[in-house]
Amino acid sequence: STPGGPRAKEEKIVVIVRLRPLSKREQFAKDQVAWECIDENTIINKPTPQDRSAQPASFTFDKVFGPTSLTETVYDGVKNVTLSALMGINATIFAYGQTSSGKTYTMRGITEKAVNDIYTHIINTPERDFNIKISGLEIYNENVRDLLNSDSGRNLKLLDDPEKGTVVEKLVEETAKDDQHLRHLISICEAQRQVGETALNDTSSRSHQIIRLTIESTVRENSGCVRSFVASLNFVDLAGSERASQTHTDGARLREGCHINLSLMTLTTVIRKLSVGKRSGHIPYRDSKLTRILQHSLGGNARTAIICTLSPALSHVEQSRNTLLFASRAK
Ligand code: ADP
Ligand code: MG
Repeated sequence: STPGGPRAKEEKIVVIVRLRPLSKREQFAKDQVAWECIDENTIINKPTPQDRSAQPASFTFDKVFGPTSLTETVYDGVKNVTLSALMGINATIFAYGQTSSGKTYTMRGITEKAVNDIYTHIINTPERDFNIKISGLEIYNENVRDLLNSDSGRNLKLLDDPEKGTVVEKLVEETAKDDQHLRHLISICEAQRQVGETALNDTSSRSHQIIRLTIESTVRENSGCVRSFVASLNFVDLAGSERASQTHTDGARLREGCHINLSLMTLTTVIRKLSVGKRSGHIPYRDSKLTRILQHSLGGNARTAIICTLSPALSHVEQSRNTLLFASRAK
């Protein structure tokens, strides 16, 4: 599927699943592997004697990647989404999954590969002039924080701009001089998020991180006309998906501090509505900060990919099942 310019026909949301290996700790605790990727589209729940809740379960997606897959390979599944942003189509790549399932690990790798691809494209397209800008933000408890400006405070306002839609007031946007500089700016955002993590105990499981590249390009045609494209490419590392589940089918109580995350709940509703091809009717973008900020990069002409990350551990089987149910509803 190649993007055909800003009027590209709407395509379904790309949904990919990545199963990580058992961690050292899980191995040490003699946790077992509950999931297996049996072909490139199918993941199954392996029946085990210990798993009393086991129902035969098999899920199919655009692509599923097992524990030995490289991020490079996973990236191939979302490559077209990146490339569409170079053609002027807004695009968003999400990592969705429970805490410790591999969202940050995967998203960092994907961002890295995308940056490579973008600069390869720039070199191979000498007739166009490109300008790449970056901003980074974190949403924690519906407060927006700038990841490129640690002095900006924790609660940036959202404003409605008649032309640009929702904008984050005072959010720093830097122009990348080249790929090295862009990587450096991305690493600042990542480091900034970690600062929050130590200060506020476990923020990464509750916060959403958005790294937004704005890709602008112009070309002077033979006629003398200047044609330009501009699009956002968003890399979104979501809060742990356990923050979206209202019901625990195993009857376990919500653990302390594990309260519902408004932005994550709203996002799942928005994605569900978009995936059934809703073009009219109410899509509740405005119900949360995350969906407001991403509104113009979701639905309509925008391209969306969701990478659902999964722990293989039997001890996490319920959360993994919830992730796969979300993923199934999104496709
Ligand atoms: P999350 O962001 O979803 O909470 P992380 O990305 O921090 O999870 O991953 C949890 C741990 O698992 C980290 O130590 C990470 O390095 C490791 N990990 C995650 N995914 C993979 C993978 N596909 N292969 C190897 N290690 C992984
Ligand atoms: Mg993380």
